[in-house]
Amino acid sequence: MNYTVNLLMSQFVTHDVKRFIVSKPSGYSVMPGQGVELAINRPGLSEQGRPFTPTGLAADRVLEFTIKGYANHADGVTRLLHQLEPGAELLMSEPFGTISYQGPGVFIAGGAGVTPFLAILRDLARRGELGGQTLIFSNKTPRDVICEQELRHLLGERCLLLCTAADAPGYAHRRIDRAYLEEKISDFDQRFYVCGPPPFMEAVNAALTGLGTRVESLVFER
Ligand SMILES: Cc1cc2nc3c(=O)[nH]c(=O)nc-3n(C[C@H](O)[C@H](O)[C@H](O)COP(=O)(O)OP(=O)(O)OC[C@H]3O[C@@H](n4cnc5c(N)ncnc54)[C@H](O)[C@@H]3O)c2cc1C
Repeated sequence: MNYTVNLLMSQFVTHDVKRFIVSKPSGYSVMPGQGVELAINRPGLSEQGRPFTPTGLAADRVLEFTIKGYANHADGVTRLLHQLEPGAELLMSEPFGTISYQGPGVFIAGGAGVTPFLAILRDLARRGELGGQTLIFSNKTPRDVICEQELRHLLGERCLLLCTAADAPGYAHRRIDRAYLEEKISDFDQRFYVCGPPPFMEAVNAALTGLGTRVESLVFER
């Protein structure tokens, strides 16, 4: 990996997701939605790169990552990342393309799959271009929702939150399926951005194409 960077601080965003602020190499530039590989710079771990999405703004003097820690992954890197103290060294790759903004549309995320959309929506907010964007964001329970206050503030009525495993006011208690999309979306001939676990993406993409969305209008990590 090409860069050695330092963890400057970390803090909880939800009970199992942390925000990591990392030093930014001079001249390093990431497009909103791009991913990078990160590894912990310690013997035995430096080859264990994992993909993550910078969630800060391009002009920030530091990099931000929003990373879910899997405590049950015995050899997992995210579990160890969550235990790092400020000053720890990370190895970082060049950014690589995954999801990029291609115009107004509907962003559909499951869990930590919201991270590329956080980067894109924050960039659009900075440019005053949030009008016409909708976010549909599914989680298990309200306590799992990453950056809920910020997303509700940015998108207002166009921030639609669902919880599959909890019935609580302010969240639809259901999955994102064909019936839900038909209820909430009137135009399927527009751009849809989809990110989440592979089965989530497959189900949402199938529902959208079944409702008439063209495959070329689906933006997801292929
Ligand atoms: C392009 C891209 C961008 C991404 N961006 C982000 C991001 O910004 N934020 C984010 O949070 N995530 C992101 N992810 C997902 C993230 O990369 C994974 O969560 C991460 O790689 C998991 O690493 P890990 O080492 O903890 O676990 P893994 O490498 O998946 O597994 C490590 C070990 O844990 C054990 N294990 C695995 N699964 C289980 C299980 N279900 N139960 C018990 N043990 C298990 C196995 O022993 C395995 O060898 C992104 C993924 C991609 C592809």
